[in-house]
Amino acid sequence: MRKQIAAANWKMNLTLLQGEQLAEEILSAGIKLSSGQQAIFAVPFPYLAAISRKTAVVNGFYTAAQNCAAESSGAYTGEVSAAMLAGIEIPYVIIGHSERREYYGETNEVLAKKIDLALENKLKPIFCCGEPLEVREGEKQNSHIAHQLRSGLFHLDKVQMSNFVIAYEPVWAIGTGRTATSEQVQEMHQHIRKVISTEYDKETGDSVSILYGGSVKASNAAGIFSQPDVDGGLVGGASLIAAEFITIIKSLKK
Ligand code: PEP
Repeated sequence: MRKQIAAANWKMNLTLLQGEQLAEEILSAGIKLSSGQQAIFAVPFPYLAAISRKTAVVNGFYTAAQNCAAESSGAYTGEVSAAMLAGIEIPYVIIGHSERREYYGETNEVLAKKIDLALENKLKPIFCCGEPLEVREGEKQNSHIAHQLRSGLFHLDKVQMSNFVIAYEPVWAIGTGRTATSEQVQEMHQHIRKVISTEYDKETGDSVSILYGGSVKASNAAGIFSQPDVDGGLVGGASLIAAEFITIIKSLKK
């Protein structure tokens, strides 16, 4: 069974105190996650230790980093390595968010290195892919996503690829309030699974958890998550509001 995941991406928001209060409100809401469900807080680097101490004691909740370095160690001022995250027992790391690709020039080649370092350090990457508006308008989204998957992930072997977590996040839907329709999401998730199945095999394609990201909120989560190839969501804005994210977690398939 594929994991069903609600992942909060706090981005560069909240003070530590606000973040702790938000996490506590969600963690104390009495949400009972089944063994196939997970909820993740992807928080700024300085908050990782504090938030992971809280998630460690609540069943099914985890903490993630939002990025890691493309080098293993050395003179890279300001960077945080995958080994450092592993050293403080952070289980997940987001790799290739469109904001990293767009504002920090992270190419598919750089992202492939980050994926390798994350896996070497036993971190679980959440690999983001997604097309910009002009690609969607030109109806080239399927080949765009296939290229991102190929150049970021397809050097991995079948074992590494099995149970991988991918987030499909159309750039035009991130932070814009414009959500892809449930049909558009299902269509792309099915395509992603097909591309993986063609490269590896059907078993591998079927084992990958594919999250949708792009203006997910309490009011649309259940509709999107109920699609057969959708395994939850990566949520930005709405994850900063406890009541919103609680409803989003509760909208995961069992
Ligand atoms: C994101 O940052 O990954 C995201 C999907 O943001 P939002 O939910 O605000 O669109």
